[in-house]
Amino acid sequence: MKDIILIAPPAAGKGTQSKLLQEKYHIPHISTGDLLRTATEQNELGDIVKKAMETGTLVDDEIVLKLLETRILKNDCQNGYILDGFPRNIKQAESYLKLLNKLNRPLGDVIYLDASKETTMKRIVGRLSCPTCGAVYNDQIEENKPKRFGTCDICNGSLRKREDDNLETFNKRYKTFMEETYPLVDFFKAKGCLFIVGSGISKERTFNEIEKIINRG
Ligand SMILES: [Zn+2]
Repeated sequence: MKDIILIAPPAAGKGTQSKLLQEKYHIPHISTGDLLRTATEQNELGDIVKKAMETGTLVDDEIVLKLLETRILKNDCQNGYILDGFPRNIKQAESYLKLLNKLNRPLGDVIYLDASKETTMKRIVGRLSCPTCGAVYNDQIEENKPKRFGTCDICNGSLRKREDDNLETFNKRYKTFMEETYPLVDFFKAKGCLFIVGSGISKERTFNEIEKIINRG
């Protein structure tokens, strides 16, 4: 199997699809968040990463690349991996290509999960969860609404909204994505490895489309 890079606007289903791919194809899911967290526990770069995370500064690209290199070289990546959250911009994409070149590893498939701004906005702004049983609902999407307003269908608990699931935060994240990350679509298109998958309807349909791409002849 080829390596897979997933690129998607916030709430377009990147996490869900990564998980489905990982479960069905038994290839590791590599996210920068996990790389950094693991580094703070064991790697020799751990102290630097820890300090950056504590002070809220961005971890240098070079460190992320170094961690990524170590991760890719592990045995479980031999048959491919899913990369999530990296590269986030053109500069990181260029460094990533250099790394692959050094490791003599082909780029693989880059999949862009395409969902409209309105769809992803509803997914975030309408998100509700039950603090008691963990069930998740959405009051902006008809089929995910709880039966009774503000109440969990399963345990009758009061549903909560996360503080940062608001329109302002969403707009900020979306704008950052469009400015910094979206240009990767053209960047990878030019390399001939970009696939676009609609991710606005259901996770099953999206996964089905992804499978067609990665299993093509
Ligand atoms: Zn509940």
